[in-house]
Amino acid sequence: MDSAEYERKIAFRFAAFDQDGNGCIDRADFSAAAARLLAEFGTTARCDKGQALYTGAEALWQGMAGIADVDGDQRVTREEFVGGAVKRLRDNPERFAEIARPFLRAAIAVADQDDLGAAPVPAVVRALKVLGADAGTAELAARSLDADEDGVITEDEAVSAFAAYFTVIAPDT
Ligand code: CA
Ligand code: CA
Repeated sequence: MDSAEYERKIAFRFAAFDQDGNGCIDRADFSAAAARLLAEFGTTARCDKGQALYTGAEALWQGMAGIADVDGDQRVTREEFVGGAVKRLRDNPERFAEIARPFLRAAIAVADQDDLGAAPVPAVVRALKVLGADAGTAELAARSLDADEDGVITEDEAVSAFAAYFTVIAPDT
């Protein structure tokens, strides 16, 4: 991977977290992501699924801040993201998977409107689009998330894909 490609991949991942596009990652981005998902699936913040999603979003933010907010100002800049998050996540992908698990579990429950115990691929496409992915990327990602191709995405499939997405970026390979 050349450095331009590396920079591009970092930029995509940073943008995925920077939901409001203000150039840094902070708590507001995570609550914005939760709010967008709930609105897309017609779920209220007060119900159990809604509360679990906000709780998971807060835990994900706390985990991200613990890993990457080096100066402790409650914001993760692009520099902190590159130097802290990406490097340390790559060194310890399991840790990031567990940090993300409550949010992903709750997001799947919100997208699982027929109580299948997993999220149908089309619902995951909708979720990814409402979080900022373009249509083509969302389709591709949702299909690759469904590792065993049974048409639904389980918590474990989401957790391992999420961890892989943020940890496969290796500038030196
Ligand atoms: Ca932001
Ligand atoms: Ca910071």
